[in-house]
Amino acid sequence: MENCIFCKIVRGEIPCAKIYEDSEILAFLDIMPVNKGHTLVIPKEHHETLVDIPAEKLKGLIGELYKITGAVVSATKADGFNVFMNNKKVAGQEVPHAHFHIVPRFEGDGISNKWPHKKYEEDEMQQYQSKIQNFLK
Ligand code: AMP
Ligand code: ZN
Repeated sequence: MENCIFCKIVRGEIPCAKIYEDSEILAFLDIMPVNKGHTLVIPKEHHETLVDIPAEKLKGLIGELYKITGAVVSATKADGFNVFMNNKKVAGQEVPHAHFHIVPRFEGDGISNKWPHKKYEEDEMQQYQSKIQNFLK
């Protein structure tokens, strides 16, 4: 992808504070961290969202995500951590190249985790349960 900012980082056209690299993935510090040590883990190949990444590649990526998360938590002496992805604009994705965020968390860091919650109407929960299960068949 010619104009993708993360592809440019992969190609070395834009600098980054690299944490780890292998043939398939790259991890680097987020330039505007939620907390210091906030790290992004990306597949080198351009895929927009989680479900666009081929399953085999995703397995490798998750294995590295696991190791890098441990390193971020140890290095920052974090009390906890968030690992998340934003997928598509409506979900807050600003860079359309799939990436996992690793955010170290600290007691009293003042970051809110509060999401609004909805309620299911009668039977609705079962309807969603089977609708989703049907796509796993
Ligand atoms: P998202 O909103 O999930 O798409 O997250 C994109 C993240 O990429 C944001 O947290 C940005 O701070 C980060 N980001 C954007 N440009 C760069 C860059 N050149 N180097 C490092 N992180 C970046
Ligand atoms: Zn890209």
